[in-house]
Amino acid sequence: MKKVLIVDDDQEMRLFLSGLLKDKFQVLEAEDGVQGLALAKKENPDLVILDLLMPRMHGFEVIQRLRGDPDLKGTKVLVSSSKSYAADQATARQAGANGYLTKPYEIDALLGKIEELVGSDQTPVSLRFWGTRGSIPCPGPATQRYGGNTPCVELRVGERLVIIDAGSGIRELGGALLRQAAGKPISADLLIGHTHWDHIQGLPFFAPIYMPQNRFTLYGVHGTTAGFAEALSGQMSPPYFPVDMKALRADLRIMELDGPIQLGAARVTYHYLNHPGITVGFRVETRSCVVCYLSDHEPYGRLNEKGDFSAKEDDDVARFVRGADVLISEAQYTDEEYKYRRSWGHSTFTDVIGLAAKAEVKRLALFHHDPEHNDEMMDRFLEGCRRCIESRGHRLECFGAQEGLRLDF
Ligand SMILES: [Zn+2]
Ligand SMILES: [Zn+2]
Repeated sequence: MKKVLIVDDDQEMRLFLSGLLKDKFQVLEAEDGVQGLALAKKENPDLVILDLLMPRMHGFEVIQRLRGDPDLKGTKVLVSSSKSYAADQATARQAGANGYLTKPYEIDALLGKIEELVGSDQTPVSLRFWGTRGSIPCPGPATQRYGGNTPCVELRVGERLVIIDAGSGIRELGGALLRQAAGKPISADLLIGHTHWDHIQGLPFFAPIYMPQNRFTLYGVHGTTAGFAEALSGQMSPPYFPVDMKALRADLRIMELDGPIQLGAARVTYHYLNHPGITVGFRVETRSCVVCYLSDHEPYGRLNEKGDFSAKEDDDVARFVRGADVLISEAQYTDEEYKYRRSWGHSTFTDVIGLAAKAEVKRLALFHHDPEHNDEMMDRFLEGCRRCIESRGHRLECFGAQEGLRLDF
């Protein structure tokens, strides 16, 4: 276990930080600069979380003395201070601090910083598909293998649960979470790419969201005609639905994205996609892997006239998913079907293979299957995709996302 030394004269702060970190780290505490320095020399911690204004010796001097000790060369220093002056931040960095957080800060910002500085223990990541179908649920024997539920992907980043999209698949995920939690509180972050019905229709059937002990944060973008929260509550309104959003008793936060977010060990960025209305794709990066999620999207070069502008937009999408360990990408049509579905906002199999190859992703999960594509057809299309990849000489593994399929990183 790595060692973290908390040096802060504020007892409550020490208590809070050690409570937060004690499961993952061996935590040591010191209540002033002199004690902190002595403990650092004795214990050689991996990380010192250091306040600046403390009795007996202030934090700047502690950093200088730490950096003057060759035995502590590997020790990282994260300043945690109420002093927000740029000059103080610069001085601390010049003295040898590796990071600086201004109090009060979000827990996620702290955990992200710690992960960045000493998180070389790779956080295990797993992914599971709970809904893979596009447009409308289509249960039945003909879609049993690839799945009939609309989009929902579960990502486990260490202990942290991240759910991408809340299609009908989230209903069964909710049941599984309740069984695993066995009465304990559940918390998760939900990333919603867009609010077309197939991507949010499962939310009112996600049982944990009705229970007050659970906590969920939903992230999405401001829509064309309504804010994210309004769009979500719109589907739970009369005359379309009997229960409104107020019935969701969990501790619920609905956030509009305005930049990258840090969810524990995962950094999440988003990119606008080409789909009617406002839609974003997600890139989830950890030290172990990169998972990208593009649903729904119609390549600019396919829909508009091919030209420099379309090419630039398509290049931007490729850059966004570059090097992903897994690209979960919608692939709704064959090239033949596309002729009749142009401007519906979706890609073809060959579009997606081209994108994945250009972006040098390692594995491509075909996703958001067309409701008309049964298991037998999907097997055939997948065979065609693999032939296409081989004939073009791409190095790319391609598979069809199936409900229940789990990947570990
Ligand atoms: Zn969709
Ligand atoms: Zn859509």
